[in-house]
Amino acid sequence: MPEFRKILDIHRGQATSDGAGVRLLRILGGPGIERFDPFLMLDEFGSNDPDDYIAGFPPHPHRGFETVTYMLEGRMRHEDHMGNVGLLGSGGVQWMTAARGVIHSEMPEQEEGVMRGFQLWLNLPAKTKLSDAAYEDIPPARIPRVQTREGVTAVVIAGTFDDGTLRQPGAVQRPDTEPLYLDIHLPPGASVSPRVAQGHRALLYIYEGALGLEGHAAPIEAGHLARLSDTGEVRLTSETGARVLLIAGKPLNEPIVQYGPFVMNTREEIEQAMRDFHANRLTA
Ligand code: MN
Repeated sequence: MPEFRKILDIHRGQATSDGAGVRLLRILGGPGIERFDPFLMLDEFGSNDPDDYIAGFPPHPHRGFETVTYMLEGRMRHEDHMGNVGLLGSGGVQWMTAARGVIHSEMPEQEEGVMRGFQLWLNLPAKTKLSDAAYEDIPPARIPRVQTREGVTAVVIAGTFDDGTLRQPGAVQRPDTEPLYLDIHLPPGASVSPRVAQGHRALLYIYEGALGLEGHAAPIEAGHLARLSDTGEVRLTSETGARVLLIAGKPLNEPIVQYGPFVMNTREEIEQAMRDFHANRLTA
């Protein structure tokens, strides 16, 4: 009998607004749901009311980490100081490494209909916080998908899906934090055991249905985040069907000093980021 990871805690996402008034659910990184090294923040945006999202995120800076935007539905236009322009559509991912600095805007391109997706903030180690910025738009056709014999589908955004039978590397591989980012769809009655590296932090966010986790009696309902212990196996089940993000990564174990969109290791580095931003040197 294998040992299974335990649930450390379960949180409900908190309604908030950000950017120019985009309504969203802060799943990780808000009051009472602090960071989970190497993850700084996870937001879910989802609405069929354009007033909730149309104002978007006009130009704003980032330094010291990566942002990963995964669109389930809708279209978001991205523009940055490097002249990159990208249109993120349903099922697409934007992986942006802000590193030394990015100034960008993220604006919904549709005026009606459903807009739904996630943005994850992933920390960078001290040694690459001031590296050159980079970004990649990944269309859905370039994001691998696997289907198990039980009919479980996994969209393999980052890292590698491996259940002992199927092995599929994802669209993105990153050093240092070695992130695993899976969007898993379980039909009713199905189960799946994706491998998560021992010692890596793992979290589950249920965004539809209800999820059972081996070793725990009660299912976790949609809208909840479960943080798991660092070792053991993960076996997901669902009586009713569920859609779940499984996100894991290697902790950096470095001090974090954050001021809004700047995430560094020391207060001096934050002050430097603010001076650089005000002097128009953030991205120089
Ligand atoms: Mn941004």
